Amino acid sequence: MKKYLNELEMELNKYKKDLKEMNEYMYNNPELGNEEYKSAKLYCDYLNKNGFNVTENYLNIPTAFEGKYGGIKPGPKIALLAEYDALPEIGHGCGHNILGLTSLGASLLLKKYIDEFGGELYLIGTPAEETNGAKVTMSDLGIFDKFTVAMIVHPTEKGHHRSTTSQAMEALKFKFKGKTAHAAGDPYNGINALDGVLNLFNSINALRQQTLDSSRIHGIISKGGTTPNIIPDYAEAKFYVRANKLKDMLELVEKVKNCGRGAALSSGTELEIENYEFSFYDMVTNKTLSEVYEKNIKIQGIEEIYEDEGLGSTDMGNVSHRCPAIHPYFPISKENLTGHSIDFAKASISEEAYKGMAEAIYGLVLTGIEILTNEKLVEKIQNEFKNKK
Ligand SMILES: [Zn+2]
Ligand SMILES: [Zn+2]
Repeated sequence: MKKYLNELEMELNKYKKDLKEMNEYMYNNPELGNEEYKSAKLYCDYLNKNGFNVTENYLNIPTAFEGKYGGIKPGPKIALLAEYDALPEIGHGCGHNILGLTSLGASLLLKKYIDEFGGELYLIGTPAEETNGAKVTMSDLGIFDKFTVAMIVHPTEKGHHRSTTSQAMEALKFKFKGKTAHAAGDPYNGINALDGVLNLFNSINALRQQTLDSSRIHGIISKGGTTPNIIPDYAEAKFYVRANKLKDMLELVEKVKNCGRGAALSSGTELEIENYEFSFYDMVTNKTLSEVYEKNIKIQGIEEIYEDEGLGSTDMGNVSHRCPAIHPYFPISKENLTGHSIDFAKASISEEAYKGMAEAIYGLVLTGIEILTNEKLVEKIQNEFKNKK
């Protein structure tokens, strides 16, 4: 595959300036999940200009899009996914500006090989990874089922990291209803909804000792009353519940819900539990595909690929239950960086970031070329996917 590297480098040079400009534009105009109108437009205009068949407002998700290329000669169907949502107050602290553009860069370079070898290429814009991940809706609608592979590469610190697992996650909201009363005059006539929430936190804190080490339960009090002299008649808590495997997560969710039910009983409140965001599945990395990508990173002279614990969650997990998928990482900094921080956002427009981005683009394109040209490899990837199901 090494023979392709020179021509890929020359090809990427044509787009480098534009990619850099788009990256800085998104860095300076960060948009929250499902509000990424400017970013989505930027992608759609650029894809149109470069010969892709573009669907805006894809699946009636206003900031989603699909850019399709090829399909003239039969062959594998490759999906590259873009994210472009930012975080409140810290902007692109997860680097989704450069993340999406890495997939765009790889799509632009892959076109030529789709012309040559056949197959179809899709760049899919997937909004709101940080909150109501659109990949969940898209997965549920079955749009990923047709793909030979789906790939996305996320920015990180210090070196390339392999695609591993991510945690399954459910977002639970506990709504406690009580009755107001004067907190000093006749508190005995009230039912304190905030007690429901406090009991919930205490029960969950007791539960922690009996959970798997890899589990995470973390919450906030999103509503806790209006003023101290009124017994709160409404209080609310939001939690994320995570575990490494979907099955463990579902068991843990039931235990956490029981903490809420007990809290309602002991406080005399009424309780409603709901999902306030979509649930994310665990990431199941296709090892065969992942090894090909890693090999294509290493042939660029990168010696070591690191491995993380796979903590945190992503809606790419849902995609990985639908088709063979990877979610590796490329470096945007030589220094330590904390995810979801202003420093991380700053690093996303650094020279180091563009270096890592180019390496990831070459990794994706070379992997794409192998998918388009090696039937045996495709079969192996598909078999692994079927066996894991
Ligand atoms: Zn993030
Ligand atoms: Zn992210």
